[in-house]
Amino acid sequence: MAVDPLIELHDVNKYFGALHVLQDINLTVGKGEVVVIIGPSGSGKSTLCRTINRLETIESGTIKLDGQPLPAEGKALAKLRAEVGMVFQSFNLFAHKTVLQNVSLAQIKVRGRKKEEADKRSRELLDRVGLASQAPKYPAQLSGGQQQRVAIARALAMNPKALLFDEPTSALDPEMINEVLEVMQQLARDGMTMVVVTHEMGFARSAANRVVFMSDGRIVEDRTPEEFFTNPRSDRAKDFLSKIL
Ligand code: ADP
Ligand code: MG
Repeated sequence: MAVDPLIELHDVNKYFGALHVLQDINLTVGKGEVVVIIGPSGSGKSTLCRTINRLETIESGTIKLDGQPLPAEGKALAKLRAEVGMVFQSFNLFAHKTVLQNVSLAQIKVRGRKKEEADKRSRELLDRVGLASQAPKYPAQLSGGQQQRVAIARALAMNPKALLFDEPTSALDPEMINEVLEVMQQLARDGMTMVVVTHEMGFARSAANRVVFMSDGRIVEDRTPEEFFTNPRSDRAKDFLSKIL
């Protein structure tokens, strides 16, 4: 692969007590690449995402962002979390702040932007995710799909180098899934580096450069979507695909 690496995991191992939840993980995500992670429940997908912005520590191995090892603490860690934005299944918006405040807050606190500057950027991003008119509302006044798009705008507001999505559409009613996937498709076309845990195989086929299949804490396959979906090599992947397709 010719692109510059942005996220590099080398021989990463992590345990929860006796559970060896990540086993010898080697994964490189290039700048501008979209990597979709799929696999059965409990295979370690969320844990893998969380190690990349250091919401989880690891027992051995190395993780680098843009050539630099992940910082352990302090201001550098806060900066890392801004540079690797994360979008969760539960939107995690502040209920007592408006949509605009939700998108502006971390820009002011972490990026040190003035309120006017932050609000201007927030309005641009809300427009980009189709929510310009929702700025003064509170999260509870929005649909789930709209709330998730606010969460994406909030992550983008930090000018991240990469975005991690952990099942961003799993909590949504079916009719709202596409509006979120369309925003993600557009981000992918715009060249954002993305790691996406999802069960949306249509998104994986159309947006992913690579599909990573995990099972029992290991990466079992790491291939293009065409290769993976037409000709999965492992029995585990075949079994998984037969259940979801
Ligand atoms: P996935 O996202 O693929 O469903 P997870 O990464 O959430 O998988 O979990 C992988 C395994 O680690 C599961 O067996 C889960 O129960 C366990 N696990 C996850 N988080 C914790 C934790 N904080 N403490 C102990 N075990 C955990
Ligand atoms: Mg998970």
